[in-house]
Amino acid sequence: MALFDSKAKVIQGYEKSINDKNLSIKRYYDEIGRLYYGQYKDNNVDVTKDINNRCDAVTKLYRDIEELKHKILFEKGLKLCPACKTENNLEYSFCFKCGNKFDPESAKRVIMADELPAKVEPVEEEVEDEEVDEEEVEEESKDEE
Ligand SMILES: [Zn+2]
Repeated sequence: MALFDSKAKVIQGYEKSINDKNLSIKRYYDEIGRLYYGQYKDNNVDVTKDINNRCDAVTKLYRDIEELKHKILFEKGLKLCPACKTENNLEYSFCFKCGNKFDPESAKRVIMADELPAKVEPVEEEVEDEEVDEEEVEEESKDEE
């Protein structure tokens, strides 16, 4: 029982965060609207940069929300097919709906976009097959931060 309770709490935290981010997006939209109107009324006003900054912030918030949604699914033992957006069991190797092959890492943890290396250097030498034993994977998912 305790396990499920803490899981529910984690999910609740993610959902709260999504709500907060949606509110921020609304605020940005309001500001963008006002800025645009100010520019429309007075041709001497140039707030393009202010508008663009806010648009970028909104884009980032939408991305964060997508990640949070993935994290919620992950907590529920589910993952989304990147091709058709169908919910699949975390353990599936292929999407049961469209047959898309999942990245083997997708079952282990949610990879945040911020964690992805900005640029991957091409690797010249041969890479050994990654050896990951089951226990290590279990540990990883517990102390994910
Ligand atoms: Zn699919």
